[in-house]
Amino acid sequence: MMALPKIAAIGTGGTISGVGEDRLDFYEYGTSGRFMRIDELLAGVPELAGVAEIVPVGFNNIASTAIGPVDWLALLNLIHETAADPSIAGIVVTHGTATLEETAYFLNLAVRVPVPVVVVGAMRPSSALGADGGLNLLNGVRVAGAPGARGMGVMVVLNDEINAARDVAKTSNYRVQTFVSRDFGILGYADADKVVFYRRPLRRCAPETEFAVAGLRALPKVDIIMAYAGADGALVEAAVAAGAKGIVSAGLPSGSPSPAQKEALTVAANAGIAVVQSSRAGSGRVIDGKVALREAGFIAADNLTPQKARILLMMALTVTNEADEIRRIFDTY
Ligand code: ASP
Repeated sequence: MMALPKIAAIGTGGTISGVGEDRLDFYEYGTSGRFMRIDELLAGVPELAGVAEIVPVGFNNIASTAIGPVDWLALLNLIHETAADPSIAGIVVTHGTATLEETAYFLNLAVRVPVPVVVVGAMRPSSALGADGGLNLLNGVRVAGAPGARGMGVMVVLNDEINAARDVAKTSNYRVQTFVSRDFGILGYADADKVVFYRRPLRRCAPETEFAVAGLRALPKVDIIMAYAGADGALVEAAVAAGAKGIVSAGLPSGSPSPAQKEALTVAANAGIAVVQSSRAGSGRVIDGKVALREAGFIAADNLTPQKARILLMMALTVTNEADEIRRIFDTY
């Protein structure tokens, strides 16, 4: 019999480890603050023993609404430490779904070890009728140990679907099919018989990243300013006053701030703050237009959502402040 792959499972909390009052508690479970530790979560899925040798690795037990850059950096270090054991074939991270795509994209830009990293979550707490976390965890482990998983960058697995961290977004508040890679579709399936891949991301991703952030304690401060009808420049000015090194404009589709925001953002760009123009539409590119963007000193976010553009800008600002170099980075990742 072939040896099973050794997969490390890192627990961070979230609904997947949430415990509700009863089987119909689909919402208020978060208020109890009760999250299962990763070893408890694993114990609830004995079928894991049939697909991998699992090594539980504790991290923390919080809702992902409370996860931010400091946690990302700590998680990155833990992943690097865990993968230093050459017998580890892959790593699964259990995570709340609210910021799952942000942690996954950060890791996609930061992880420098070749073992596959898969982030999983759940839409229903472990105690609920129809809980989806156990199967998502099992599938995440299968994907992390699958022969084709290397070179895919960080992946997100829920609802039997394998998504690239760069492309995936949570698109619905409660549905189990919430994670969607809108413009490009999934990479493959975790089906009952096997894990199958159909395509590979072309944009540069883990472990082939130029960003060496593992030793950092914080990332440069980047804020997102939403555009909406009649928005004034006050929030842009507030971000600058609060010390933002970069600002992402979540623009009116196809990617522009309101006139008053544009004025304030132009002042910020002229003062050396990196301004990235994204779109709040959630699909499609922002075009690097000469008059709309270049003349104001703005950088196009390509097709990254505002929350992903923020993460790439934070990473870019760890290596450069030059607008043209940041443009190259947005063309690359
Ligand atoms: N509030 C939860 C979290 O992100 C939502 C979830 O996990 O689905 O931690």
